[in-house]
Amino acid sequence: MSGAARPARRLRVLAVILIAAAMAVASGCARTPDTYAGPTPMPGALTVVTTTTLLADMVRQVGGEHVSVLSLVPKGGEVHTFDPRPSEAWALSSARLVFGNGLGLDDWLTQLAADVGTDGPIVQLAEHLPGADYIVADGQTNPHLWLDVANAELYVDRIEASLATADPANAPAYRAGHDAYRARLAALDAWARDQLAALPTGNRRIVSYHDALPYFSRAYGLTIVGNVVAAPGQDPSVQEVQRLIDSIRSNGVHAIFSEAQFNPELARTIASEAGAKVVSDLYTDTLGDSPADTYEGIVRWDVSHIAEALR
Ligand SMILES: [Zn+2]
Repeated sequence: MSGAARPARRLRVLAVILIAAAMAVASGCARTPDTYAGPTPMPGALTVVTTTTLLADMVRQVGGEHVSVLSLVPKGGEVHTFDPRPSEAWALSSARLVFGNGLGLDDWLTQLAADVGTDGPIVQLAEHLPGADYIVADGQTNPHLWLDVANAELYVDRIEASLATADPANAPAYRAGHDAYRARLAALDAWARDQLAALPTGNRRIVSYHDALPYFSRAYGLTIVGNVVAAPGQDPSVQEVQRLIDSIRSNGVHAIFSEAQFNPELARTIASEAGAKVVSDLYTDTLGDSPADTYEGIVRWDVSHIAEALR
């Protein structure tokens, strides 16, 4: 698209969005993205949009009152299969800085940004991340890097650099927010290792609902035997379910972990068939209610529940 054509197209798209948003409000079915709890943004705060509530929390921890952060996927929403609506497009079009995860987690962001335009740059936090050791299966890089807290620290480095570039006047505040947060994350990582280090070796085999836990498992010494679904939104066949049940039995899997954003029924059924425990409310891709309303909160929640189930 040429530079001259772009603003005209963008205006057209925004007009369509506004009409659609007005109709959605009129019909009472508007879906409002989560605005973020936390320090009240100062007047003139940097407007930041993220794809997920987890990334929104990380940005807020670094930026404090200097940022006004909104997550496109609401709390409890499912990022992989997310279908953006007009209100989300409107928020994106007016953001001065946008954070996605990338690596196939939130691909819809790229198309949405192309459709509505955005004033700020898009930073894909997990892509080409210096220091990251990627996990690749079937030719695809798994996107869930943040569930290893050491990787979350790398995200936070990139968030701080991006905020400072977008808003240089507040760079010292972003540096201070970054340093304090990163110190807490380092302590959290050590705590998680400590909690899971005590588990008996034979109890460390798990099944998760979708393939969200490879970085977590590598960091904290668990082994993933299988997943309930090959990908979010793809229901397994009867044969696949039976194979998973057999595999759970033959590998002595201790527990199946489902996640807050998915219906837990299938995981419960498989667990009862296979004679394994089930934990149905891990937080992987989204925040929940307190105490799972921050990234640090979900790591504490997940580690505590996993440690308890595998003891
Ligand atoms: Zn996921």
